[in-house]
Amino acid sequence: MHIRKGDKVLVLKGKDRGKTGEVRSIVTGQVKRSGERDSNRDRAIVAGVNIAKRHLRPGRVRTQAGIVDIEASIHVANLALICPHCNKPARVGNQVLEDGAKSRVCRRCGDLID
Ligand SMILES: [Zn+2]
Repeated sequence: MHIRKGDKVLVLKGKDRGKTGEVRSIVTGQVKRSGERDSNRDRAIVAGVNIAKRHLRPGRVRTQAGIVDIEASIHVANLALICPHCNKPARVGNQVLEDGAKSRVCRRCGDLID
C-alpha cells in the first residue's frame, strides 16, 4: 500500500477534499477466505479528516453519554501521499534497494520516501 501510519496525506474525495492531515492509523482490509488481504478494503484514519458524530450511550466504562466527534476512516484510494521532500501530493512507486529492502519512491521528485 502507498500510505503508512505517520504519513502526511492530501484528501482527494469526499467532504474534506483538499484537506491535509497525518495518518493516525491504517485499517487493513479483511483477510479473504483464500488467505490474502483484501486491499480493496484498506482504509486510513487521518487526523482532522472525515469527522463523524457518534451518539454514545452511558455504559459501565463510559458514564458520560452524548454526541462525540470521531475521526471516521477514509478509503486509501481517496488519499494522496504528500512527499516529505518536494512537499507536494505525489504518486508513489516502489524501489528495491541494493541491500534488497523495499522503499517507497516519490514519482514527482524521484527521492526515496523511507
Ligand atoms: Zn517528492
